Amino acid sequence: MIPFLDLKPCHIALQNELEQAFKRVMQSGWFILGREVETFENEFATYCEVRHCIGVGNGLDALYLVLAAQGIGMGDEVIVPSNTFIATWLAVTRTGAKPVPVEPYADTFNLDPTKIEAAITSRTRAIIPVHLYGQPADMAPIMRIAERHRLFVLEDAAQAQGAQYMGKPTGGLGHAAATSFYPGKNLGALGDAGAVLTNDAELAARIRRLRNYGSDIKYQHQVLGHNTRLDEMQAAFLRVKLKHLEEANQTRRHLACQYQSALEKIAPRCLGLQLPIVPQWAKPVWHLFVILSQQRDDLQRYLLASGIGSMIHYPLPPHLQACYPEYAKHQLPLAQSLAQQCLSLPLWPGMSESAVSQVVNAIGGFYQSLPTKF
Ligand SMILES: *Cc1c(COP(=O)(O)O)cnc(C)c1O
Repeated sequence: MIPFLDLKPCHIALQNELEQAFKRVMQSGWFILGREVETFENEFATYCEVRHCIGVGNGLDALYLVLAAQGIGMGDEVIVPSNTFIATWLAVTRTGAKPVPVEPYADTFNLDPTKIEAAITSRTRAIIPVHLYGQPADMAPIMRIAERHRLFVLEDAAQAQGAQYMGKPTGGLGHAAATSFYPGKNLGALGDAGAVLTNDAELAARIRRLRNYGSDIKYQHQVLGHNTRLDEMQAAFLRVKLKHLEEANQTRRHLACQYQSALEKIAPRCLGLQLPIVPQWAKPVWHLFVILSQQRDDLQRYLLASGIGSMIHYPLPPHLQACYPEYAKHQLPLAQSLAQQCLSLPLWPGMSESAVSQVVNAIGGFYQSLPTKF
């Protein structure tokens, strides 16, 4: 059996270090906003080449807090990808603003800058590019459009810790970035966690206040705040995992490379199979290895019958979700066809090369089993 994802091997490899971190926090007797959070924030900011990092409760809150701290709300519009995890949209909706979907490039699945300007109105305040599946979005043209229209750019970097765009780490490419340390992300905590990154000191101060009851000084509340703090225990675990992130991402790149070269060999015999495409300027971290197949559901069933797990990211785009009935009639054909064709193959640090070969052999077997058309 090859599971889609197995977090155990990488945690067992770090067991001693994680137990040390646990003991350090437990014995300190300090669990909220202390030394571990502050140190992790500094370490992660340095890693992302950004001045400020603010640890928060999860990725959705990180996205929301940036928008709220920018004063975005009722009557405003924010441009979001049509094909993303629902959190990107929900953060906008929570502020009272309206998510305005824009379609992706058909090859990299990331926001297509040439389609952004048509979606800009007098109400548009911000753009949220998502570095989907660990592949950086095409940030240079997005930043040029933002400058021209005086828009704020918030990177959703939840799937891209360590990914680079033109040699620069994601998380420092826009005006601010939000990230998630959900356990399955490239940098995953042992529970919920997230962070905001920015070079803007004033924005950072507003977010620090908002995450902690709107307070800088205990029991003095300048603004209506929230309680969404990264806790000391998760920060201590994240410090351990950050030390090993480059190595883990390198393993992912190696496995992705194995997938690519093996799949390229069988692709000519697999009608309707599309492999990941990586632009020259991108150094992805393969949060997910996503292929497109016109026979996706049959392929997924075939893999499962061969003992191979896989997942769909995501089976239904945000505009077709029950929680967004007002978008049900929107025509977003790329988001819809991606949702019908995408399949995420198993890939995690600790997966073996022979497991990759097994998956590729099974995919070849599936396409061979299809009736040939004349
Ligand atoms: C995981 C994820 C989020 C949300 O993170 P949580 O920590 O689960 O709230 C936001 N955006 C994207 C693209 C994600 O993949």
